[in-house]
Amino acid sequence: GRPGPVRDGALTALAADLQGPLLRPRDDGYDAARQVWNGNVDRRPAAIARCRDATDVQRAVRFARDEGLLLSVRGGGHSAPGYGTNDGGLVVDLSLLEEITVDAGARTAQVGGGVLWRELDERTQQAGLATTGGTVSSTGVAGLTLGGGLGWLMGTHGLSVDNLLSAEVVTADGELRTVDAENEPDLFWALRGGGGNFGVVPSLRFRLHPVPEVLGGMVVHPLDRAGEVLRFYRDFCPTLPDEAEAYCALLTDPQAGVPVIAMLLGYNGPLDEGERVLRPAREFGPPLADLVAPMPYVARQSMLDQPNGVHGLHRYWRSAFTEQLDDGLIDAVVAAAADFSSPLSGILFFHVHGAAARVPAGDTAFAARRVQWDVDVIAQWTEAGESGRHTDWLRSHWAAAEPHMEGSGYVNHLATDDPPEKVRASFGTNLDRLRLLKARYDPGNLFRLNPNITPVAP
Ligand code: FAD
Repeated sequence: GRPGPVRDGALTALAADLQGPLLRPRDDGYDAARQVWNGNVDRRPAAIARCRDATDVQRAVRFARDEGLLLSVRGGGHSAPGYGTNDGGLVVDLSLLEEITVDAGARTAQVGGGVLWRELDERTQQAGLATTGGTVSSTGVAGLTLGGGLGWLMGTHGLSVDNLLSAEVVTADGELRTVDAENEPDLFWALRGGGGNFGVVPSLRFRLHPVPEVLGGMVVHPLDRAGEVLRFYRDFCPTLPDEAEAYCALLTDPQAGVPVIAMLLGYNGPLDEGERVLRPAREFGPPLADLVAPMPYVARQSMLDQPNGVHGLHRYWRSAFTEQLDDGLIDAVVAAAADFSSPLSGILFFHVHGAAARVPAGDTAFAARRVQWDVDVIAQWTEAGESGRHTDWLRSHWAAAEPHMEGSGYVNHLATDDPPEKVRASFGTNLDRLRLLKARYDPGNLFRLNPNITPVAP
């Protein structure tokens, strides 16, 4: 049923039970605490529980369940649809769970549920190590991992979920469980791609890999070459070894103020080998600018932060997977870039390949184990009053692009206006098993502000 307003007395009792603060609309800091990355999401939860530890998480989860309250789980706050907040319900805010313990000898890291990739990468890199993480440094480690985790290291080391060794999870019954390949393996399987459907994760343990200096940066071309660049790009990607990544972006050059196309290149291995492998993409054109250079992994990981990591800009985002970049898709995205309604908007192609694509689809809940592109069209703007214009830009161009892609997408990039068939298709061949496990661990669908898996009785 529809949750009713929560009793103030009940919240006062919850506040007394928690080690961390419970922020209500009358409290100082509430307005800052209710804000998320997407400024277009303006919601007023009844309370925000800043959990201090896993016990706080258990108390907050039990409270939401007992009171029939809408529940949001928030780590880094980067859910584009704004699943990390809600109107009138409870937010379990994990930002205080920021502990990181790196065991350089064992090459593992224990990571709190509120840690951001920037924080984890800085710590692991002190030991010359890293694990696959996202491409913008301000996203949350747990939220990104639970949906799969695509990033620069995935060709060599697989997705973030492929490096997850164990997780603590507070399930809908309020129990704290530690799951791994031996303990509750079904739940551990479901966490690795189930996208927040199975509980709140106060901490995770990852496998780390040696990651010395990497090659990274972009080569930039004018928009009137975009068709040629994309045709080169679609033929170049299949030639790449696991160590290389090539993404592509249509965006507005911040200095010149004109739309451009850039190939975003990376190589995670011997630098001279990387120079050789990436050379064709750097010589093609030739480009207006070639910014590819050796750099520390943390520098490569923050190159897309502006403006994408900036909190509070208004956003609307659609995405899909595709195994082909056909000419119709290329025409559609070039037309969209020529017509950008905001200089902050962008269109991105993330190439998924190598180790990330070789894992059998049933090994983890992340089913989309194919060599493919994740295509993202992202509208970003500064003025709330202009939302209509920018969402119209995206919707009209998305309508032209979408028929050229698959009817599924990356779970972490799905939008609230993606139809339920697309959400189901995005869990692919793992959907039936996920629905059974959802019925076992969350039969009442307490965790439903996410790309939702509806429980089904066995
Ligand atoms: P939040 O809004 O805090 O959380 C989103 C959802 O994740 C929550 O509603 C909840 O369901 C779940 N969640 C978060 N933390 C926990 C937890 N501790 N326990 C249980 N559930 C939790 N994804 C990639 O794979 N690769 C990328 O390169 C990438 N780049 C991105 C760049 C930007 C600018 C943005 C906005 C997103 C990007 N994403 C990327 C998508 C990203 O993985 C998702 O938005 C993810 O949900 C962000 O997690 P968060 O903790 O920051 O967000």
